[in-house]
Amino acid sequence: MNERRSQRFTAVRQALRQQGMAAGVVTAPVSMRYLTGWSNPSKRFAGLVIPADGDPTLLLPALEVEEARSASSIRLVAWHDGEDPFVALAGLLRAAGADSGRISLEEADLPVGQLRLMAGALGLKPAALIDAAADLTPVLSAMRECKDEDEVALIRQAADMLNPALDAALASIRPGVTERDIARVLEEAMLAAGADGVAFETHVLFGPASALPHGSTGGRVLERGQVVLMDFGAQYRGYRSDITRTVCCGPWPDELARVYEVVLAANLAAIAAVKPGVALDEVDRAARRVIEEAGYGEYFIHRTGHGLGLEIHEEPYVVAGNAKVLRPGHVITIEPGVYLPGVGGVRIEDDVVVTETGCSVLTSWTKERLSVG
Ligand code: ZN
Ligand code: ZN
Repeated sequence: MNERRSQRFTAVRQALRQQGMAAGVVTAPVSMRYLTGWSNPSKRFAGLVIPADGDPTLLLPALEVEEARSASSIRLVAWHDGEDPFVALAGLLRAAGADSGRISLEEADLPVGQLRLMAGALGLKPAALIDAAADLTPVLSAMRECKDEDEVALIRQAADMLNPALDAALASIRPGVTERDIARVLEEAMLAAGADGVAFETHVLFGPASALPHGSTGGRVLERGQVVLMDFGAQYRGYRSDITRTVCCGPWPDELARVYEVVLAANLAAIAAVKPGVALDEVDRAARRVIEEAGYGEYFIHRTGHGLGLEIHEEPYVVAGNAKVLRPGHVITIEPGVYLPGVGGVRIEDDVVVTETGCSVLTSWTKERLSVG
């Protein structure tokens, strides 16, 4: 097992002992990937059993063994179709001394049906297992918050793949194209640049539709004088990037040009605020203050950003009221926006990693106000 992974297991075991639990069971695919390098691609049950004192075992479907063995040197126990994986799981838990239900479970990622089967295999009522169990979700999410150098390098690579995608989109933006056309151009260019897939559903919104922060990409046809808002990301070896750029087809309408400069100033002010020891609330306020002072406060209708890594939205969140303090290794987005109903929206989003002294911006595509087509 590589050193980083074994450090992660050590940290989980330490947390289990603090919780007074005999074992942990990891069921979320992202957690499994974080700890073992393998993640479960199917609906068949897989569980990573981590005894508080002992070596972990990955219980998985037999047909996944080859894949898992190439990703990880962890001990594997396979179950075959027709067998009950929960019998094997209960065996591993008993061996770890967890038969009374002193198990830390990923409560946010454990379906009730599986909990029932797990309890049954241990000879416990589901309610008894719930009473005895602890929650492993916050333990793993806290561990995943601060990225190590290898993780930052993967996010940086995923962020670099966004540049050729935006270049390709820019070359394709002209009156008459549809939102779907531009989304396809972005996605194909990312894949050509080496992405394993998209980080999340690509959003391309034209004109007034760009004022809907969660509007969906459709068949709208681009006209001159409309903005093009592109929010998309790449996935690379499990890690994700996330960028938004807003350009205009032809000359910018006056008010949206003004809004662009305000949003850009907010983006830069928030990035300037990112450094260790600063509360996430303060970063949100740095962006919001700029937009409020320009008179557009009521049109900035979402938080300033979110953590990203193995998941597109994860801790920590750049949101009003979050007193949590930035630490080196945090990777967050900074994505202020102003949305004028019926007119259009502008959002400018970057990914930044907190360093020992400040931060470094991972997304590098220009933030100049561009007129294209
Ligand atoms: Zn985004
Ligand atoms: Zn985002």
